[in-house]
Amino acid sequence: MNKKQRQMLIRIIISAVMMVALAFIPVQGIMRFGLYLVVYLIIGYDILRKAVGGIIRGQVFDECFLMATATVGAMALAIYERSGDYTEAIAVMLFYQIGELFQSYAVGKSRKNITELMDIRPDYANIERDGKLERVDPDDVAVGSVIVVQPGEKVPLDGVVIEGDSSLNTSALTGESLPRSIQEGDEIISGSINMTGVLKVRTTREFGESTVSKILDLVENASSRKSRSEDFISRFARVYTPAVCIGALLLALLPPVVNTVLGNAAGWEVWIYRALTFLVISCPCALVISIPLSFFAGIGGASNAGVLVKGSNYLETLSKTKVVVFDKTGTLTKGTFEVNGIHHSAIENERIIEYAALAESSSSHPIARSLQREYGKALDRSRVSEVHEISGGGVIAKVDGRTVACGNDKLMRSIGVEPIPCHSVGTIIHVAVDGSYVGHIVISDVLKPHSAEAMKELRKAGIQKIAMLTGDAKRVADDVAESLGIDVVYSELLPSDKVDKVEELLQSKPAKAALAFVGDGINDAPVLSRADIGIAMGALGSDAAIEAADVVLMDDDPLKIAKAIRISRKCLRIVYENIVFAIGVKAICLLLGALGIANMWLAIFADVGVMVIAVLNAIRTLFVKNL
Ligand code: ADP
Ligand code: MG
Repeated sequence: MNKKQRQMLIRIIISAVMMVALAFIPVQGIMRFGLYLVVYLIIGYDILRKAVGGIIRGQVFDECFLMATATVGAMALAIYERSGDYTEAIAVMLFYQIGELFQSYAVGKSRKNITELMDIRPDYANIERDGKLERVDPDDVAVGSVIVVQPGEKVPLDGVVIEGDSSLNTSALTGESLPRSIQEGDEIISGSINMTGVLKVRTTREFGESTVSKILDLVENASSRKSRSEDFISRFARVYTPAVCIGALLLALLPPVVNTVLGNAAGWEVWIYRALTFLVISCPCALVISIPLSFFAGIGGASNAGVLVKGSNYLETLSKTKVVVFDKTGTLTKGTFEVNGIHHSAIENERIIEYAALAESSSSHPIARSLQREYGKALDRSRVSEVHEISGGGVIAKVDGRTVACGNDKLMRSIGVEPIPCHSVGTIIHVAVDGSYVGHIVISDVLKPHSAEAMKELRKAGIQKIAMLTGDAKRVADDVAESLGIDVVYSELLPSDKVDKVEELLQSKPAKAALAFVGDGINDAPVLSRADIGIAMGALGSDAAIEAADVVLMDDDPLKIAKAIRISRKCLRIVYENIVFAIGVKAICLLLGALGIANMWLAIFADVGVMVIAVLNAIRTLFVKNL
């Protein structure tokens, strides 16, 4: 509990004790009123102040206004009737404040839960100086420095292991509980926890650019993007509150006037009291509080499962997903190509690989990385200049002063070289030097271990259509699609063709369904942003993907897509449950109040009760991880 909440608790206790004590003190008249007024002000002064503030600012109709009018009205009525029954007004304030306290406690608690779940921010980095370890702020570590990560410590910055082996716990980042074993040469990401061995790591990114910072940024900004349900609630409150105020006014005025006209007793007190009860009942706090809280908890629960959702609006769209479109390389397949052969070589095979690896030396495409790995030696970038990467085609660069082109058929034809077709199944990388063909490298990629299962899970989650887009050759694409049971495949696409295909799919999908595109962000960032919902794989790698996507899977596991959809649906179900429940109970109570069956006590219990139940229900969304 924080200081404000403690103060509130003290006010609640003091006023409750005083209220009970006053019941036993037989004072009458102005003395009695004075004593009760003190208690009323102790518990309600801030509400009154806010209500007055609202009126001054012209934003009259809020909960504080409802509470203030109802309780001041009840006090006035008690004076008018000379009943001396001021307890009711105090009780209404008291329970309202108890409800508020509970809610602020619950919200604070779930916020804390989430930040604890996301407790990945490293406090320091160890740098070795003169044989001693020195702790420094991760922010002060330059790229390329060597840091030491001891067992039990968080990895503070992204980097490459240069000494030692160990296993890493990445569960805070990916939700994956199995430790990942790493050794010299492996890339490691910040935010994971080093479990067993001492590691020396050469950093590859500054702290601000490292995985932890990016993830924390995303999570912190997520709650600012409002969903349609949330918008609905605030629009609803804007219309609703004035409407009930007018309703209450009519309830107070009309029946007495009609009675008078008919020649009956007017019954002003009865109808004013009913109108005031009506105001208390109508307080919309359960909705106003529980809906954003449900979304917030849903986003927290999802990130706990390794799925980062950038805003509650995306959670909502995700729940409507019926069509899922996949990119192939790096998304369904691992994106680590093995070289299977080199054909039709006009120069030595090693030279072809060397030219290719050098030409690709500044590309981050999975093919480029694989060729660099195949080359195996350190790349001397000074030999390379004038690099042009043609997305969906390949690269053209000057290596040792000679023009090397390396890529697919399209790229070769674009520079006027006729590639020799290959009969092996695989992705074919043609290489041309100074405009003449020197051979092709056959490489092949493997499916990710969970890809097939991911498709089954998606069907189970009610996905009606699964499509795959790829820039790769038709033969490779069809092969992958067939083994995974994908409905539609489009191959040999340029990045801009991918956008067109997604447009087509968007046109043909059912009206209310959403289309999700899943990609690794390499050559498909435009599609990620064009789809109803862009899901990026490779949160552990590609920056472009994280930028363009609405949902980021923290590991590259395609199984997480079905999980993300299930989480979003559960969250939305809880939101709707709360909307229906809160509005339903309100409607019943309003009716009872108007008929004079409900008094103010029942009203406040109903209000606080609905709020507490709705908030507890909302908090359930935090535990969606195990769906
Ligand atoms: P995908 O849609 O499967 O992710 P891309 O659109 O990234 O594939 O690339 C499509 C094709 O373009 C690749 O299969 C390859 O033939 C060629 N290509 C793209 N980038 C490169 C590169 N850096 N080096 C060689 N070939 C490339
Ligand atoms: Mg790709």
